[in-house]
Amino acid sequence: MKINNAKTKETAKIAVIGGSGIYDLNERSNVKTLKVDTPFGSPSSLIELGDFFGEKIAFLARHGKKHIIPPHLVNYQANIWALAQIGVKRIISVCAVGSLKENYKPGEIVIPDQFIDFTKKRNYSFYNKGRVFHISTADPFCPYLRKLFYQEAKKLKILVKARATYICIEGPRFSTRAESKMFRNFADIIGMTLVPEAQLARELELCYLSLAIITDYDVGLGKEKPVDAQKVLKTMAKSAKNLKNLLKETIPKIKLERDCFCKNALENAAL
Ligand SMILES: [Zn+2]
Repeated sequence: MKINNAKTKETAKIAVIGGSGIYDLNERSNVKTLKVDTPFGSPSSLIELGDFFGEKIAFLARHGKKHIIPPHLVNYQANIWALAQIGVKRIISVCAVGSLKENYKPGEIVIPDQFIDFTKKRNYSFYNKGRVFHISTADPFCPYLRKLFYQEAKKLKILVKARATYICIEGPRFSTRAESKMFRNFADIIGMTLVPEAQLARELELCYLSLAIITDYDVGLGKEKPVDAQKVLKTMAKSAKNLKNLLKETIPKIKLERDCFCKNALENAAL
């Protein structure tokens, strides 16, 4: 399938996908909204285009502007395709996660370097007809963006972890105690949205970075009570401020010329 980006004159090279707690980037100016249709249906929300401290960026709310789409029903294909269609090459994806380890503390921002997929029934690929592609996800995130955002977070004295293995579950329910115990052996943080978002971006040769905000400890860790959705929102609001600051400082520093491996993800991936 070919991405048709001739349809729209409005373009942006960098996009932010907002997750739980981040529904807008109010600091932008000249904001326009764009309705983009894709062969996979409509994205979760209108795409907003605006100037963010000198850089034109696109913003998409993963769960819809009013948070009405649960993680297992997000149209990840339409979201990623729509961004590619308006010319986006680099995606910064924000999400909320639970911690599986004591040293990954609520309020911290984590830059995952690996994921484990425990989802069950999602649309995992754009290439379901015609040519068969097996992309590599050995290193599923853009190395350039990971390094840049980590360095800038350090400069801003934001509590940040440079690495984490993210286990993605189907949801919308949280884990049982037994599941949580098992996951802790393999992963550091747990969420519901990274898969298939990250791999779909790779299939379109886009750079993809995940910025995860830890909102709480998963069930059974420490003395914490089981996950509580209200508490999640409270911690999220605090960390959202740090995260927006990080985006504000870092986005203008992103090089538009790409020399990372993301841009050649389909080379050698076809059968
Ligand atoms: Zn990249």
